[in-house]
Amino acid sequence: MTALLDVRDLTVEFRTREGVARAVNGVSYGVEAGETLAVLGESGSGKSVTAQAVMGILDSPPGFVTGGQVLFQGEDLLTLGREARRRVRGERMAMIFQDALSSLNPVLSVGFQLGEMFRVHRGARRTAARAAAIELMERVRIPAARARVNDYPHQFSGGMRQRIMIAMALALGPELIIADEPTTALDVTVQAQVMDLLAELREETGMGLILITHDLGVVADVADKIAVMYAGRIMETAPVHDLYKAPAHPYTRGLLDSIPRLDQKGLELSAIRGTPPSLLAIPPGCPFHPRCPRAQDVCRTDRPPLYEVTDDAGRPLAGRGSACHFWRDQLHDRS
Ligand code: SF4
Ligand code: MG
Repeated sequence: MTALLDVRDLTVEFRTREGVARAVNGVSYGVEAGETLAVLGESGSGKSVTAQAVMGILDSPPGFVTGGQVLFQGEDLLTLGREARRRVRGERMAMIFQDALSSLNPVLSVGFQLGEMFRVHRGARRTAARAAAIELMERVRIPAARARVNDYPHQFSGGMRQRIMIAMALALGPELIIADEPTTALDVTVQAQVMDLLAELREETGMGLILITHDLGVVADVADKIAVMYAGRIMETAPVHDLYKAPAHPYTRGLLDSIPRLDQKGLELSAIRGTPPSLLAIPPGCPFHPRCPRAQDVCRTDRPPLYEVTDDAGRPLAGRGSACHFWRDQLHDRS
């Protein structure tokens, strides 16, 4: 079966005055129809840049895709011309950003902005576009949609505005939605509601969903699988429950230990020491080694590939990979 999205060995470089920053370095991941992939990482890990390369919205220059493939239902989007790429982006894949307020036009009603999708892409007339806008607002569970269709973005709460962004993304019935930190600006209860909505819509439509986040706690309940990124590379991939139960990479372990837990109130969180490297000066060997509690000499010199993670009998564990020389020790939590 052809995957909905299959990113292979993607490399993105930024040419800056200080030198070439490799923001994405040989990243491969995929998502099937009806599936949710969470891409997890700290800021500067390359998770957003990878998504922008997939969407074809890298601000180039200075960002350039310098290698790899972005296969969308088997077709490499990187080989398409500008116009064909723009069509794919409008009709077949859509993106949701963190900041709804800056993505919406403040002087146009939300109904007009939603309706515009249908006027521009489907040639709909005004009344039909308005009806379609109301229907979309109802699909993303905005109360009293009909009464609020002429309201302006600032008249909605942050959570409702994010629903409007989701409606915008859904408008043309995309097969894939990429949401980049869609709930980061919202408070915790609203975060959960927006995540639940995305999960329901994915279920309803059978689309693929990529959730980009720095917060493991937010995606735990809605993702099927996770790719953990660090310094432009994938550190670990796993089905979500496996990753929580037994991570196979020290970085993932550190992220899990940083999630506040109710039963640990008052205890100090063991956040990972240090900070992620500058992309202009990525450490040799394992990029995580300066921060890794398990680092050995080999980690400073030899870059770990994404190893296949296996059980004790050597059978591959489905969907699991780790870019750690000592993944087996981490998996069994042997120091
Ligand atoms: Fe730590 Fe070494 Fe594994 Fe990197 S390869 S995560 S430094 S143990
Ligand atoms: Mg980002």
